[in-house]
Amino acid sequence: MPAWRNSWRPARLEEILPSGVVRCHLSPRNCTLKEGQNGFCGVRGNRGGCLVTMNYGKSVHITEETIETEAVNHYSPGERILSLGNIGCMLNCVFCQNWKTAQAKCVDDKDVHLYSPEDVVEIALRRNIRCLSWTYNDPVVWHEFVLDTAKLARQAGLINLYKSAFFISAEAIEELIPYIDIFSISVKSADPEFYKKYTSGWMDPVLDGCKRVFRAGRHVEVSNLMVTDISDSEESARRVVEWVLRELDSTVPLHFVRFHPDYKMRDTERTPVPRILRAREIALAMGVENVYVGNMYDTPWTNTYCRSCGSLLVERYGLNASVTGVDAFGKCLKCGRDSHVKLLPPSRPVPTTENPGPDLTEVRAMNWHGDVRGAHLQIVNSGSETAHAYYRRHAENAHDAAWRVLSLKGGEGYRVSVAKSRAEETGLEVAAQRGIHCLIHEVFDRAHFPTVPVDEGQAETDVTPLPVYQGKQVSIRAMKAQSGC
Ligand code: SF4
Repeated sequence: MPAWRNSWRPARLEEILPSGVVRCHLSPRNCTLKEGQNGFCGVRGNRGGCLVTMNYGKSVHITEETIETEAVNHYSPGERILSLGNIGCMLNCVFCQNWKTAQAKCVDDKDVHLYSPEDVVEIALRRNIRCLSWTYNDPVVWHEFVLDTAKLARQAGLINLYKSAFFISAEAIEELIPYIDIFSISVKSADPEFYKKYTSGWMDPVLDGCKRVFRAGRHVEVSNLMVTDISDSEESARRVVEWVLRELDSTVPLHFVRFHPDYKMRDTERTPVPRILRAREIALAMGVENVYVGNMYDTPWTNTYCRSCGSLLVERYGLNASVTGVDAFGKCLKCGRDSHVKLLPPSRPVPTTENPGPDLTEVRAMNWHGDVRGAHLQIVNSGSETAHAYYRRHAENAHDAAWRVLSLKGGEGYRVSVAKSRAEETGLEVAAQRGIHCLIHEVFDRAHFPTVPVDEGQAETDVTPLPVYQGKQVSIRAMKAQSGC
């Protein structure tokens, strides 16, 4: 048994039943558990007749990213966020892009780091990051830690973003609403049969939950992963759009996201781009105001345009954004129409230097290639004094003059996600002072964790070195052949 399962603490949303049995009311599954049993999620269980959580404060490495990573385009574009993912999930989607942490049985101790709520808030404040993102596998099964930390973060003036598949009970949502500012909800489909067949869950609680947080006045964005051949049809897109327009609002941003083969669905290919673009056209034609494509680069359809005059309001490339055409209230500078983009006051600039100094012991580079247009820099200071790491971007025969400076206290580790920021950019250079070790992890798009360092994987191929699930595969082709479609 992995060591991370060896400690636990009391869980919320417990119901005590006769004979030492407990019921969990965190997700709609409502697992009923006898002594020693674990729930479907693998991270809550019955210990001594009480409901316990086994993943409190246990996280994959805290990672600095941009808010676009979370399919959030209308809240402080380009904002730096601090992302935390944990262990377990209340669903088991065959196409999961985060299975290595979502499936508790697949989690290695080496990928688990311990944080307290105070640690998380301190790291964000010290790095001038204003937004915490509860993300990756799924924050639902991290309820106690999310609540404790989000409350503390709120007191410190930070914002909380919750990125989830949202298979969650109404009671749990009510506990989150006071502390969560932004909900980015991954709606897998608006077809109940799809949920039953591919997610091990069911649809109604997800859609009801979206309505609940929207009606509570929270900022909501909806994303829909278009999985090749099973949820990338025009009909599938139409159903999602109809639901958004009927139950939410035409101003809620909608993201159609490209899938990569993963977990139990590797017998397929990435979602064909024309299907994503067609979904976008359909949604716009049906009346959704802001429709985006996700996990795609070199496309104008990650930008925000004014729906009245067509002006470019927010320019994006990959996961990078710059606000160009709205005023401080989110109104189009040209025609005054409300873009429904919320802006925060300008943040303090990140530290940069043109001269990192002579005592650099590690200088490394990587090139973007194929679909690998992002990297996680995993930086560890093994010394006892504060030391610095640096990175900058390069293009053909040129590089940025300024290096971004990352200061690490003695013994500290940190992760930063860096994505290609313009078409002509070719890659990254990383440098570090004595005592700092830096690993580069290639990443596909936005959506997977943990990652594999370049040195251990198949670098410089068109395929990022994703961990490969060794269990049984689901063959969509075979299923389709059997059903004759
Ligand atoms: S969170 Fe959901 S899956 Fe996990 S124990 Fe509770 S009801 Fe079961």
